[in-house]
Amino acid sequence: MKKSLFLLLACCFYLASSATLRAAAPGKPYRFTLDLANVKDDRIQVTLKTPKIKAADIIYNMPKMVPGTYAVYNFGKFVSEFKAFDKKGRPLPVQQLDENRWKINKAKKLDHITYWADDTFDNTKKEDLVFEPGGTNIEADKNFLLNTHGYIGYFDNLKRVPYELTITKPAGFYGSTPLKAVNTSANGDTYRIDTYMEVVDSPLMYNVPDTANLNIGGAQVLVSVYDEQKKIKARDIATNIQETLTAQKDYLGGKLPVDKYAFLIYIDDAFNSTGSFGALEHSNSSVYYLPPLAPAQIAGQIRNIAAHEFFHIVTPLSIHSEEIGDFDYIHPKMSQHLWLYEGVTEYFATHVQVNQKLLSPEAYLEKLSSYITYSKQYNDTLPFTRMSKGALDVYANQYGNVYQKGALIGMALDIRLRELSDGKYGIRNLMADLSKTYGKDKSFKDEELFDKITALTYPEIKDFFARYVAGSEPLPYTEIFNKVGVNYNAELTEKKNTFGSINIQPNKDGRIVIVGTDKMNDFGEKMGYRKGDIIMAINGRNATAQNLNQLVSQHLLNAPAGTNIAVTVARFNNKGTLVNKVLTGQVMQVPVTAYHVLRPDAQATEKQKQLFEAWLYSNL
Ligand SMILES: [Zn+2]
Repeated sequence: MKKSLFLLLACCFYLASSATLRAAAPGKPYRFTLDLANVKDDRIQVTLKTPKIKAADIIYNMPKMVPGTYAVYNFGKFVSEFKAFDKKGRPLPVQQLDENRWKINKAKKLDHITYWADDTFDNTKKEDLVFEPGGTNIEADKNFLLNTHGYIGYFDNLKRVPYELTITKPAGFYGSTPLKAVNTSANGDTYRIDTYMEVVDSPLMYNVPDTANLNIGGAQVLVSVYDEQKKIKARDIATNIQETLTAQKDYLGGKLPVDKYAFLIYIDDAFNSTGSFGALEHSNSSVYYLPPLAPAQIAGQIRNIAAHEFFHIVTPLSIHSEEIGDFDYIHPKMSQHLWLYEGVTEYFATHVQVNQKLLSPEAYLEKLSSYITYSKQYNDTLPFTRMSKGALDVYANQYGNVYQKGALIGMALDIRLRELSDGKYGIRNLMADLSKTYGKDKSFKDEELFDKITALTYPEIKDFFARYVAGSEPLPYTEIFNKVGVNYNAELTEKKNTFGSINIQPNKDGRIVIVGTDKMNDFGEKMGYRKGDIIMAINGRNATAQNLNQLVSQHLLNAPAGTNIAVTVARFNNKGTLVNKVLTGQVMQVPVTAYHVLRPDAQATEKQKQLFEAWLYSNL
């Protein structure tokens, strides 16, 4: 998963569906029908023709949580009018046990179940918010985003039974999905899936299609876009993703580890209430939710997020612990190794860009600096393994650090391995070795991983994990960066142009609002910004959430000191009316303190320079 916040950096993983036990699945499949052609009150009807039940009573479950989201959503909440019937259509007694579970009595007679399912996108209750890439959307005659876990459940002890899924669709609709239909007609599609784990791993998006196909190193890649405003085209996104995917293929040694992949992209027509957006990964697909940014911003965001989601194919897809390999949807258990699943994935997503020359070394160091800055908002002495175990409950507020310090742990391990091997062995080599030891269908035990990695690499690595991952010592940045000839400054003050050091946020109208002036600097004071001001224009140019960064950069940050500047804001006057006011001033430099600054050391030795090269530019 990668969750981002608008104008703030913020960032899932998924899990491997197991094919190992499919042969054991006995009897008839689950036969689900989702009716998209007859939406009622923003809900769709789900019908399940059940497999034969041998027990006297049986419990039907909707998932409490699904892999990759790291949050409990209780998808049973979105189900209503749950009914069970025998062969002759007579109702059977049903008892709802909790939000996610229904007990059906006289289950030997059970023939079919029906219920209605609401979507998560239109939910307005704060406690029921679902991060959209893991949620569901129902917009009659327009779009259906089917994260299957929002509609489909399973019986106790019957997760490894085949599923047959039929989608009844409105005329002209197309289903984008990593699944291959076994039957398709103008009104519907049917899919066969081996287990519940694979059902959850297989999202679908139905709408009038806008799709594009790519071939990357032999892998077929589908890009499907639904944009409410019809501004963003699948072809453009595909062209944009192509470069990143090609770089990822080369980074992984010349071949993509999948033969097909689908990007399902939903672009909203308004900003949501949380300001967050991002994606959720699956084995052969990822689902994206984005607000209505400018096309160039959308392309840039998808490119960044896609690099992260796609690398989940390495971990946890090919390398994961038992907690992930056999996911418990009702009593989810966390692994200690989020540093690996999310951290290393995020490290790869950025490192690939410098490695494949899509990013300069300077820009890469800036990116690393921002990881350090954001990581310091979290508890730096909390052992990462303990945080990871408690990421759903006790340490839920520390979870976001998996995308910050997690990535830095990946970096520190990579540099340490390169140092110990004279530049010859890094973290990509380690991942390749681990996936040979374990794999999609072979989980490791949580507690054995550090010893296994030590055995595969160097004795010193045991100490690295003990101190910085399982222990409470913060990463020693000065020492780490010194190995590769980079100076680390925890704090550095220099004079620069600024916008005034104010806190801003987008509003529903796509404008930027000043939400805080606590840290406003001298320039901001001189301009006279106030909390609540809506920024309407800069030097007469209309300013929106889409172009503000560009206007500020052009008219302020890169303007010579002394240049006149006019910022138009909408502000309430003393009669309570919103009126435009032009704030004027002159561009001026103010002391700006930068934190966690990384700059190449001009006096670096040959050895340091060589390690820098090996760290950034080695091929696998
Ligand atoms: Zn992720």
